[in-house]
Amino acid sequence: MIRKAVYPGSFDPVTNGHLDIVKRAANIFDEVIIAVFFNPNKDPVFTMEERVEMLKVATESLENVYVDSFSGLTTKYVHKVGGGAIVRGLRAVSDFEGEFQMASMNKYLDSDIETVFFMTDTKYAFLSSSVIKEAAYFDGDINELVPDNVYKKLKEKVTP
Ligand code: ADP
Repeated sequence: MIRKAVYPGSFDPVTNGHLDIVKRAANIFDEVIIAVFFNPNKDPVFTMEERVEMLKVATESLENVYVDSFSGLTTKYVHKVGGGAIVRGLRAVSDFEGEFQMASMNKYLDSDIETVFFMTDTKYAFLSSSVIKEAAYFDGDINELVPDNVYKKLKEKVTP
């Protein structure tokens, strides 16, 4: 039985699409660790500390959800924390190829770890951290698409 799952990602910043996946995973697994990935190839808008803090505030009411950060191989991190599954979300067909490749590589690297996919809620199917940042930059009304604390942070950081 897999009890502990890790949901890795950039979360730059967390959106309601991510949170929907977190809540559904938390209903299935005993424990879900949201793990913010330090990716040296990406240039995030929010620092690692800010992304972790925003996730902590947004998930504080979820008892079996924890927030952490990591660098290096996801499988090594999952193994280190005693997890048995990697949680990922799938939106459109365009997500499939990359996610399939990553899941296959992770299975190759550690065959004890399963990747579990959650289909996006259709109301968040178009939602990504990038479109949120773009809409916020041009002062679009994104209030309903991100948690309140993220909305405030985005206004401070992204709006010119
Ligand atoms: P990464 O840089 O690892 O793709 P993201 O923060 O963009 O990190 O996304 C983390 C995971 O959440 C990915 O599996 C992504 O497909 C999924 N995800 C992002 N937005 C949504 C959404 N609106 N609905 C469902 N899954 C999503």
